[in-house]
Amino acid sequence: MSNNFSESEERQELRKAVARLAGKYGREWFTEKARAGEKTTELWLEIGKNGYLGINIPEEYGGGGGGIGDIAAVCEELAAQGCPLLLMVVSPAICGTIISKYGTEEQKQRWLPGICDGTATMAFAITEPDAGTNTHNITTTARRDGDEWVLNGRKIYISGVDEADNVLVVARAEDARTGKVKPVLFVVPTDAAGFEFKHIPMEIVSPELQFQVFIDDVRLPSDAIVGDEDGGLAQLFSGLNPERIMAASFSTGLARYALGKATSYAKERVVFKDAIGSHQAVAHPLAQVHIETEMARLMTQKAAALFDAGDEFGAGEAANMAKYAAAEAACNAADAAVQTHGGNGITQEYGVAGLLVATRAGRIAPVSREMILNFVAMHSLGLPKSY
Ligand SMILES: Cc1cc2nc3c(=O)[nH]c(=O)nc-3n(C[C@H](O)[C@H](O)[C@H](O)COP(=O)(O)OP(=O)(O)OC[C@H]3O[C@@H](n4cnc5c(N)ncnc54)[C@H](O)[C@@H]3O)c2cc1C
Repeated sequence: MSNNFSESEERQELRKAVARLAGKYGREWFTEKARAGEKTTELWLEIGKNGYLGINIPEEYGGGGGGIGDIAAVCEELAAQGCPLLLMVVSPAICGTIISKYGTEEQKQRWLPGICDGTATMAFAITEPDAGTNTHNITTTARRDGDEWVLNGRKIYISGVDEADNVLVVARAEDARTGKVKPVLFVVPTDAAGFEFKHIPMEIVSPELQFQVFIDDVRLPSDAIVGDEDGGLAQLFSGLNPERIMAASFSTGLARYALGKATSYAKERVVFKDAIGSHQAVAHPLAQVHIETEMARLMTQKAAALFDAGDEFGAGEAANMAKYAAAEAACNAADAAVQTHGGNGITQEYGVAGLLVATRAGRIAPVSREMILNFVAMHSLGLPKSY
């Protein structure tokens, strides 16, 4: 970002190019795919072919050599055209970042090119039914057995397992010296023996689905582990700031899409003398949402700029704040868009009501609104830890 609070010309051009590409597909195409139980593979592969999917990944592994700010811009522009792709958050941003940073040379060669061109998507699994938000309590366990690892556990709400070749699974291993458990990361092929998954019906209108995952004695070669066995939290956390920045961009994109629909409708629909947008009761909520969205975008760009400059600590606070602000803006935008459309706001034809649940998910995942408030209360304000 340049110092006058606007993005570089290159970034702005990237946004335009992605918006043009996604505009060829659009919301109707996206919802039709979702309702037909089909996938967005065409769009996914096209953004891959154009170099946008792996734009944050180093060039020597098929990526664009850019940063999180670039891939966040791609994610936002897709959502702003009504085609939000959750797997962008997961595959290139979380998995791509962790593997680029902590993978061995051989692992990078093996997994990153497919993440970049979209032919080998990688899902990410940390959430467990019993641990929930408290990820320190995960029980998926990795045990060494000769040259292999044996993995056992359960995961829930894992996005895109049906479309992924591999899942980056967060497990725990026991430290031989201290006996303490520590997080370890494994790349698990979705066709591995003992790896099963079951669709969780959700109310979100999206071709990207969530799954329960059952891991029973899955045997993995020794090189399935990403990063150091003793690397601990740092490896995992390196993927979490990108996750929050991407989630924020996903939300600001949806907010812009909802606001765009509402604004055009408010300009056209006449029931009294003038268009409904001439009433402040209709116009003000839209203006308010526009302000909230622009503030969230600015904070998201700040978080990305800090992350890309190597300030992971500073990026953590900004990424949390951005994710919070963006989810709130998106929920308010979807609500205002439905209200502006009146009865049409609830029809499938106008496609606005579906945004209510999609934007609402942004308040829960990948980290809930409450946990962000906990973080800010503790780290930004110095209040006692409350959880
Ligand atoms: C659409 C969608 C896609 C997802 N995709 C993935 C994925 O790909 N991979 C993955 O690993 N996970 C994924 N998740 C899971 C997501 O990260 C979790 O749902 C989220 O972290 C919340 O965990 P939980 O659902 O278990 O809620 P819980 O932990 O049960 O929390 C329930 C409520 O209690 C609140 N709460 C809990 N503890 C506290 C506290 N100490 N203080 C204040 N409030 C508290 C929470 O904020 C929340 O509102 C996805 C979820 C959704 C909805």
